[in-house]
Amino acid sequence: MLCIFIDALNPSYFEYMPFINSRRENSLHGYLEVPLGYTGIMASFMTGVWPDKHKIFDLFVPEEKPRKKIKNKYLLAFIRLLQGKRLFYTPSKLRAMDYFKPSLDKNWAQKNCLSYPTIFDFLEKNGKSFEVIDWPNHFKNRKAGIFFPKKYQHTFKLAKKSKADFVFIHFLDLELAHECGVKSEKIIKVAKEIDNAVKNLYDKDKDVLIFSDHGMNDIEKEINILSEIKKLKLTFGKDLIYIIGSTTIEFWFKNKQAEEKVTKMLQSLDYGRIIDKKDFNINTDSDLIFLANFKTGFYPNFFSSQHFKAMHGWDPKIQKTYYILKNSFKKGRKDVKIIDFLPTILKIMNLPETKCDGELIV
Ligand SMILES: [Zn+2]
Repeated sequence: MLCIFIDALNPSYFEYMPFINSRRENSLHGYLEVPLGYTGIMASFMTGVWPDKHKIFDLFVPEEKPRKKIKNKYLLAFIRLLQGKRLFYTPSKLRAMDYFKPSLDKNWAQKNCLSYPTIFDFLEKNGKSFEVIDWPNHFKNRKAGIFFPKKYQHTFKLAKKSKADFVFIHFLDLELAHECGVKSEKIIKVAKEIDNAVKNLYDKDKDVLIFSDHGMNDIEKEINILSEIKKLKLTFGKDLIYIIGSTTIEFWFKNKQAEEKVTKMLQSLDYGRIIDKKDFNINTDSDLIFLANFKTGFYPNFFSSQHFKAMHGWDPKIQKTYYILKNSFKKGRKDVKIIDFLPTILKIMNLPETKCDGELIV
């Protein structure tokens, strides 16, 4: 089976993706719902369970003893590589991020990357080979290598040569929309290139899943929520800690007064809401998550030094992405959730079924 993960796919791009668009006629396809959050989405793809079980939401969680962090991304990547931690990220330059550490250390293809078994654990257990081309990691079963650069051509070249029973590839290029917007010439060009790459891989296997981890939409309204928090005169580290993302803010309170002040302030805002985590099947140790309304973005935030034009991470029932599944089963469901892929892949590959939150698509 071939699994093509096209990061940040807004279904409106199909207008510029003639091949993928045409494949919809002969394959199962439809809107795809993912969990709220960031890193937790792919953790749910890998395990078939909601984030309330695997516990991953964001890439960062509080550090027990806050300490100075390495701020240089190359040095950090080098150290992590030596430690066998193949999850790489660009560290924030903010001092506030010294209070946080990554919620994950390993790439999905590494053993014990999550507290729940992943698709790769199931494949290994059943004697199936796998290959993962997920920049900058290239796994042949559990054996890891590194490749550069990030552009799709390199992923494509490796994918073309891959031979495993299960091949998982990740195209990251459409993430560029953060900087140039979803309707820009640059994004249209990238969408066409990715479409062509998929066209050249599509006949490699009789079973092909094309999917994304989230959509991408232009930010229409930018809010400086940091200034609202600062007006409360609370001390970061002593009264509370928080992470401002582009669409969500997660708070951990150290006293009742801070909790009351922040809650009252957030309740008075009309561009977002405090969410009930249960409604989103997430479970983190934070005290509060505030979610921006669709197309509203927070700036400044802890991760982007520049103004972003487009974003993801809004209410996933509103911001959906898409999937296409070529396989021998003729019937199936149209609207699916990302947790449904694990049991579906196991069925398509004739592997024993497992208990998880997802349901079969075919
Ligand atoms: Zn993504």
